[in-house]
Amino acid sequence: MPETDIRALVRTIPDYPKPGIMFRDITTLLGDAAGLTACVQQLAAPYADKNIDAVAGIEARGFILGGAIADRLGCGFVPIRKKGKLPGKAIGQDYELEYGVDVIEVHEDGIAKGERILLVDDLIATGGTAEAAVKLLRKLDAEIVAAAFVIDLPDLKGRERVEALGIECHTLIEFEGD
Ligand code: AMP
Repeated sequence: MPETDIRALVRTIPDYPKPGIMFRDITTLLGDAAGLTACVQQLAAPYADKNIDAVAGIEARGFILGGAIADRLGCGFVPIRKKGKLPGKAIGQDYELEYGVDVIEVHEDGIAKGERILLVDDLIATGGTAEAAVKLLRKLDAEIVAAAFVIDLPDLKGRERVEALGIECHTLIEFEGD
């Protein structure tokens, strides 16, 4: 069977959500059975023997991939959500957006000290979201083994930003520009 072309299954929508942005839409990839399997398999494979205790997925597309990766690794899943969405006691971390500040949160009891975590999102752009997620998980004394993304936008240097925090990054495909 020919290898699935993950890149060809990502749809690009120009000028969404605002002019100048090339939105890399993974719904077309998730909707393709072979594409979804290839993504989950390739994101999980390097960590199969790394004793991962939990996958932490970033809202919202990180939930879809993260849940499937956790199932494959035989570990739990922990959601990292936008402020105010988690029902239990949560801790937060702010990060800067182009205009203003946003906050992500995780349940205080979602991860125990020293647990080995694989961080998952669909795409890394500037790395601001992933950096905030790393800082948030470190507040719980988690050991972040790596961060895995389907898509890297290398021109925005997010990968370097996350690697500067001492976190290995695993990505499957790249697109030029932002
Ligand atoms: P950043 O914090 O700049 O690395 O942005 C990463 C987050 O924003 C991820 O959760 C992505 O889903 C989303 N994102 C940023 N840029 C794009 C893009 N060009 N296409 C699709 N999603 C994007």
